[in-house]
Amino acid sequence: MNSGYNNKKYKVYTQKNFRSIPQIDVIDREYLDNISAVAEVFPFRVNTHVINELIDWGKVPYDPIFQLTFPHPDMLLPEDLTRIKRFQSATEHPLALKEEVRRIQKTFNPHPAAQVEKNVSVENGLEVKGVQHKYNETVLFFPTQGQTCHAYCTYCFRWVQFVGMEDLKFASSSPRYLTDYLSRHPEVNDVLFTGGDPLFMRTRALERYVEPLLTQDDNNVTSIRMGTKSVAYWPHRFLGDKDAEGLLRLFERIVQSGIHLSIMAHITHPQELENPLVQAAVRRILGTGAQMRCQAPLVRHINDDPQVWRELWKKEVQLGMIPYYMFIARNTGPGAYFEVPLAHAYEIFTRAYANVSGLCRTVRGPSMSAAPGKVVIDGTPEINGEKVFALKFIQARDTRWVNRPFYARFDDTAMWLDDLKPAFGREHFFIQEG
Ligand SMILES: *Cc1c(COP(=O)(O)O)cnc(C)c1O
Ligand code: SF4
Repeated sequence: MNSGYNNKKYKVYTQKNFRSIPQIDVIDREYLDNISAVAEVFPFRVNTHVINELIDWGKVPYDPIFQLTFPHPDMLLPEDLTRIKRFQSATEHPLALKEEVRRIQKTFNPHPAAQVEKNVSVENGLEVKGVQHKYNETVLFFPTQGQTCHAYCTYCFRWVQFVGMEDLKFASSSPRYLTDYLSRHPEVNDVLFTGGDPLFMRTRALERYVEPLLTQDDNNVTSIRMGTKSVAYWPHRFLGDKDAEGLLRLFERIVQSGIHLSIMAHITHPQELENPLVQAAVRRILGTGAQMRCQAPLVRHINDDPQVWRELWKKEVQLGMIPYYMFIARNTGPGAYFEVPLAHAYEIFTRAYANVSGLCRTVRGPSMSAAPGKVVIDGTPEINGEKVFALKFIQARDTRWVNRPFYARFDDTAMWLDDLKPAFGREHFFIQEG
């Protein structure tokens, strides 16, 4: 079927061939060498849509979408950067480079296996592959074919998986794991397909996972979510790709079956939404009866500015999408390059939130996805002469924790929950008190 959209040739650039990107000449030689060195350590993948449609090459290297997708010299320690560049030179043995890269990767991620265990539900001593069930109503499902993305975000916490340090043992290639799990867990009414990017998968593959949820009546699923960056990184997925029409028809079938479908779009900067192809993709998705909710982390160098978030939420609402989460970026990988202190994150959120219409205030944050749950920073008040962080769980392993305020000592350098100490001279936060 001809959708009327001209599907430009999909071409991907990585560490190996990025110097042949036509626009690359605006970047000086030394910066290019640094990109090449950093991209040995962290995953780098960018496609023609991001290059031709999203990046403003006149603003490179400060352009936010360039920052979002291209590695940057400061992501490595200066001494590591220098060493990689030396090992890259032709006189060195290629194995030496490989070993050096692994050594540096391990300094960023000493326990590559930890994430795998967390992503697997254990039931009757058996691993339920691809299913993560942390919050009562919702399961996350990781289909094997959706564990990569059309382009890579430099702040991605899945980078370990993308550079092959972590295998895909946790992901599932069988829809049966999901359907069997759901029939044993009537409390689950919400399934979230995640990755990577589940819409990286071909429509045929996605249908194998989704159709049983619609047709089998031994589950209580009332909503399906798909977390994706494809709307911004590859809108042709919903426009001119061979199976774009098929994907939209699948969305329609979900909605017509009486199940709510929400496309959870990862949108980091309003510049992504100014693109006409991205806007056309949004219109087509909404045309199926699906809703769209938007989420992104707050990251230095890309969107650490209240004006940017204000524009982002306004643009989302204008296009018919619902602002959902502002996340604190996880402290993994090149965290130091992207980190924003919690106190500053709260200021950015509040200054943006204060200056938008109520229609944008469906957004929640800034939120940390930590082991016990999602913790939102709700204020920095002074109580009985002590300045504190007011915190609360908006989602928790234990449902009794949700929406109960608790307090930590104010600390303007704290970056994550681990850095916080209980306020008012207490020894523990309430969740640690049995
Ligand atoms: C965020 C998240 C969910 C979904 O939480 P909602 O509050 O329903 O958006 C589910 N599982 C995990 C592990 C999560 O991190
Ligand atoms: S879209 Fe998500 S999973 Fe993919 S690279 Fe970006 S942050 Fe990582």
